[in-house]
Amino acid sequence: SGPRSDAVGLVTTNAASPVRYVRVALDVPLPGLFDYRVAQPVSIGQRVIVPFGRRELVGVVIALPEAPAVAPEQLKSVVRVIDDLPPMPADWLALMTFAARYYQRSLGEVMLPALPPPLRKASVYTGKRAGGGPVRRLQRRLHAKAQARASEANAQTPASQANEEVSHGPRLNEEQQAALAAIQAIKGHGVLLLRGVTGSGKTEVYLHAAQRVLQSGRQVLFLVPEINLTPQLEHVLRSRLGVSGTGQRATLAIMHSGLSDGERLQAWWQAFTGEADVLLGTRMAITTPMPRLGLIVVDEEHDVSYKQQDGLRYSARDLAVWRGHDLGIPVVLGSATPSLESWHHAQQGRYALATLARRARDVALPDVRIVDTRRLALDQGFSPHLLDAMSERLTAGQQVLVFINRRGYAPVLSCTSCGWVSQCAHCTAYTVLHRWSNRSAGLQCHHCGSRSRVPRACPTCGDLDLKPMGRGTQRIEEFLSERFPDARIARIDADSTRLKGSAQALFAKVHDGEVDILVGTQMVAKGHDFANLGLVGVLNADSMLFAHDFRAPERLFAQLMQVAGRAGRHVGGAEVMLQTDYPDQPVYRALQRHDYAGFAHYALEERRALGLPPFAYQALLMAEARELAQALQFLNDARRLPEDAPDAYGGVEQIMVYDPVPLRVVRVANVERAQLLVESVSRPALQRFLARWCDDLYRLGRAARVRYSLEVDPLEI
Ligand code: ADP
Ligand code: ZN
Ligand code: ZN
Repeated sequence: SGPRSDAVGLVTTNAASPVRYVRVALDVPLPGLFDYRVAQPVSIGQRVIVPFGRRELVGVVIALPEAPAVAPEQLKSVVRVIDDLPPMPADWLALMTFAARYYQRSLGEVMLPALPPPLRKASVYTGKRAGGGPVRRLQRRLHAKAQARASEANAQTPASQANEEVSHGPRLNEEQQAALAAIQAIKGHGVLLLRGVTGSGKTEVYLHAAQRVLQSGRQVLFLVPEINLTPQLEHVLRSRLGVSGTGQRATLAIMHSGLSDGERLQAWWQAFTGEADVLLGTRMAITTPMPRLGLIVVDEEHDVSYKQQDGLRYSARDLAVWRGHDLGIPVVLGSATPSLESWHHAQQGRYALATLARRARDVALPDVRIVDTRRLALDQGFSPHLLDAMSERLTAGQQVLVFINRRGYAPVLSCTSCGWVSQCAHCTAYTVLHRWSNRSAGLQCHHCGSRSRVPRACPTCGDLDLKPMGRGTQRIEEFLSERFPDARIARIDADSTRLKGSAQALFAKVHDGEVDILVGTQMVAKGHDFANLGLVGVLNADSMLFAHDFRAPERLFAQLMQVAGRAGRHVGGAEVMLQTDYPDQPVYRALQRHDYAGFAHYALEERRALGLPPFAYQALLMAEARELAQALQFLNDARRLPEDAPDAYGGVEQIMVYDPVPLRVVRVANVERAQLLVESVSRPALQRFLARWCDDLYRLGRAARVRYSLEVDPLEI
């Protein structure tokens, strides 16, 4: 019998078939798959180059239909079957299919972007200097390297060399042992949520769990939220990983967005072929095919960086859980402050829970002191208490971290007589004062990026007295250098670390004790282990208390716990000073007691009462147009679509569609934006609704000439 069109997984190659058609996923903004004629043997999961309009595109073969979906004479032919890789494996195709369905995108829009860029560019195969394509070139390069290494290293045998290099970590304490046992108790699939206070030694637990998996000959996928965290963990993994199932030292590949296309392809290829035993990477690594995958670890699982914010807006953590389930392997989610979604799963018993309540080294968690700023005279935002404490710590030779929440804190330019504030000409957003160099400054919009000069006088009233309002990190750095002239001050924020590698260099200086005061934003809060940090000052946490977003308190708590966790990891007696006008807020009270569970309980009860996630499921439809009215019209039409065919929508009783609203930053780069929230207490009902809605939206969007995007499980609404 010949191949059947619906038989994905049954028939995977057309080698025996007389009629040859392929159904291909392409990364184009059109729904569905595309059929082509093919003259050679081809397998499901293989990549092909096909004509599309005037272009040639790389696509992935999804099915081998007996008969094409359009008249055979209209079919174009495959230009080339790419055979430099084995076909993409079935579990990868399944992951992509799930993601496409779940996030309501076409298979091609999900699949192709998940491949390293060289594997999805037709030109690198067809161009004059293709040289057999990127994979063949990579193989030749790796082969040459391996030979060069082999002819150098004949003095020592690789095995003994490897054994010497492995360093042994500390003995696991009781809590760590219990956590490890809980991971090992997972038979097949299961998720373990590892909640461990900062410095409790979660990494040790991951390492031990990974080592067992490697010894059994399987691979480990290790996800971290940020590029900046990969070097630290890479170092630990390289020194600590022992032998894999082959008896050789386990090998490591690294993947993140800072790599060149070639480097990323190499890491991907090593994981895909199984040559790398461990893949360490940021969210993009979750879609890497790994033939022997045996464990997935998601460190700092609550981190919003796991959510992609453009294109396919997927959550790498959620995909990790699905992938673990599909492969029947354990997934470990680790955090000091788990997302309320994950915590809720653990409370419900869907995830196992292990807790590391104490720091692994014998140092206490820092004292958290709340400074009530309501009746204090602040100097540039600093209370006398904080400035005194800073002096003391500096005198004692300790480091101080001044933490600033970026949100609402950038210095905008304002007129002291009429109240004018610098605003972007293209967006409804303020522009922010930046110092490009010692002598030049300018205004920049953080939404569209446009820059402008600092006006000499107020554009509204002509007054010359324009002042920066709010305290950006730069201004704080300036103030502190006047206040503490002998201290060495470093600033770590998005501005000061724009150049590749500069963040690492700055962090290295801090670690080496070359910095006394560190001024930083969110960037400093994550993962870094500052040995000599005695005091953390938190300046403007309140700006997040009353944010519009219902997740703001959760995020604030996580952030403050994390910042507090930077203090006193090696020296005892460390302190966190939190300045606030709202000392009685539950977030701050829980922080003072280092009480995640208490905070989570309070926050979940609030969410339950308001019917918010994780007690409801959401999707967000966003529309962009030249005129706000157009965007709102589109959303209003979208809202009414189900009224015409409620049954096709799987019944709309469980679906709540809210009114369209303009975005807080309405205009970005001269485009008006508005959004519409859809909510349901039932995930399947929401999925049914969205699947049908997307079909209708596609037609509506084309007719209305409005750009729109749909986000499932939005993190910010
Ligand atoms: P976390 O990731 O939970 O914040 P880490 O894994 O970075 O914590 O561990 C914090 C510190 O404690 C590290 O310096 C680590 O080497 C050390 N550590 C971890 N486990 C132990 C242990 N069982 N005994 C002694 N020190 C430990
Ligand atoms: Zn003015
Ligand atoms: Zn702008």
